[in-house]
Amino acid sequence: MILPHAVVETPVFMPVGTAGSVKAVPQHLLEELDARIILGNTYHLYLRPGHELIRRMGGLHRFMSWPRAILTDSGGFQVFSLNELRKISEEGVEFRSHLDGSTHFFSPEHSMDVQIALGSDISMAFDECTEYPADYSRARRSLDLTLKWAARSKEHLERHKHERPWAQSSDFEGKTPSLFGIVQGGMYKDLRRESAERLVEMDFPGYAIGGLSVGEPRDLTREVIAETLPLLPKDKPRYVMGVGYPDEIVEYSAMGVDMMDCVLPTRAARHGLLFTSEGRLNIKNKKFAEDEGPVDPECGCLVCRRYSRAYLRHLMAAQEPLSAVLNTLHNLAFYLETMRKVREGIEAVAEVS
Ligand SMILES: [Zn+2]
Repeated sequence: MILPHAVVETPVFMPVGTAGSVKAVPQHLLEELDARIILGNTYHLYLRPGHELIRRMGGLHRFMSWPRAILTDSGGFQVFSLNELRKISEEGVEFRSHLDGSTHFFSPEHSMDVQIALGSDISMAFDECTEYPADYSRARRSLDLTLKWAARSKEHLERHKHERPWAQSSDFEGKTPSLFGIVQGGMYKDLRRESAERLVEMDFPGYAIGGLSVGEPRDLTREVIAETLPLLPKDKPRYVMGVGYPDEIVEYSAMGVDMMDCVLPTRAARHGLLFTSEGRLNIKNKKFAEDEGPVDPECGCLVCRRYSRAYLRHLMAAQEPLSAVLNTLHNLAFYLETMRKVREGIEAVAEVS
């Protein structure tokens, strides 16, 4: 993907930078890990520090000093997670801030305005993330709303895209940010098909499969991905939101998924759960107390090259902030390396055939 701020090789795993920070990892180390694209959360940045402040600071890239690509979500997922705090109409969603209880309103147009102010390379259409389980009529209504909102998102962004903070800079002449449509439809095959077909008619530069990783069993996630992918154009990026474990991101890549994101590697790291070539390990485990070996002997990351399991275990037990930094660095390195190997595998196969 050739994006305004980076060239991104796919399939790609995107670290999640919720509030303008991939938790515990400074931006220069993300560069060292060779992350080319990270996520920003529209809902969180809108509430704090506020998208207008970020616009005045030159946009999210400049504010957080991240020169590479950023994808922003629509805010829909977070707003709809606030179960008790929302009121939905066709116009949009009224919700109360989880920070101070203040009332806010998000519509497709407002979500686009916030994403424009942040200046992301890829914006996501405002959607209603259908919960699981949802009965057919509920999934149907939710899907209709999401389709209407996708059209409104597209129209509004088209009209206002020149308002991005970096749009006037000559460095970005001819470089266009993208808007992706999001397939919903619950776990129903025909609804997923309808959602995909109608989004493709609207002609987005990329498509996401949303409404997964919402508590459904893993077999069902795979099934919905397998059924939905062939309905989306092969020559455009296909993004599955909110997945997954290391073996899942490999599996979904093999199925044809181009982009994925998940808080798992960063969140798990802060809880001491580390991913390795030999499976998961819990660094808090007593058996690592005097283990001089690296987290993963197969991993060449800057943590594995330098620190022992014993030291990482100690940092966690002593609640040293460095614990979160080092654990997260390793997990992200493991995820990004996993995807690098997948891309190499794809290239090798392409050369043979
Ligand atoms: Zn490592």
